[in-house]
Amino acid sequence: MSYTLPELPYAYDALEPHFDKETMTIHHTRHHQAYVDNLNKAAGEKGFEEDSLEGVLKAVSKYGPAVRNNGGGHYNHSLFWEILSPNAKTAPEGKLAEEINAVFGGLDELKSQIKQAGLTQFGSGWAWLYVKYNGTIGVTATANQDNPLMDTNITSQGYPILGVDVWEHAYYLKYQNKRADYLDAFWSVLDWNAVEAKYAEVLAKL
Ligand code: MN
Repeated sequence: MSYTLPELPYAYDALEPHFDKETMTIHHTRHHQAYVDNLNKAAGEKGFEEDSLEGVLKAVSKYGPAVRNNGGGHYNHSLFWEILSPNAKTAPEGKLAEEINAVFGGLDELKSQIKQAGLTQFGSGWAWLYVKYNGTIGVTATANQDNPLMDTNITSQGYPILGVDVWEHAYYLKYQNKRADYLDAFWSVLDWNAVEAKYAEVLAKL
């Protein structure tokens, strides 16, 4: 047994015109596949195949850079595909909406902070909305394939519930150097139903 590339829950061209077919195809079949393949190689060497990836990442300082980079890559991309949809719900409701209002004063401010986090992440990385271990939510950015689960990430630990990939491979074919335009387009395909579901899952295990 080993880690496997999850199928996308929609077609490669389903997120057009916001995310183009060629980028989605390469991103999923080559970039994500490479993280899966390299994670399996590293997991075999470390002897933890099929352990919970979440548990591995929470203790990633024990495992070294190959697991950190490729385990993070597999986890982050799996989350990213899940929260995108061609039929995206454009605003959160219920408990998550209440928490966003309480912490950020409203959805517009949250979106602005995530965009700013993505724009100011120098080089490759991710911008996140995450649930801290005390149950409140926050925005952060991490380098490379790191994420808030990792014990190496000491300033913003918790469970990611929304992530946006700001590696150039996520947007360069369509948006070239215009990361801001890509980050604006992200909101058109982000499905708040999926983020609400992740938020509920996290609250249930805190
Ligand atoms: Mn990526």
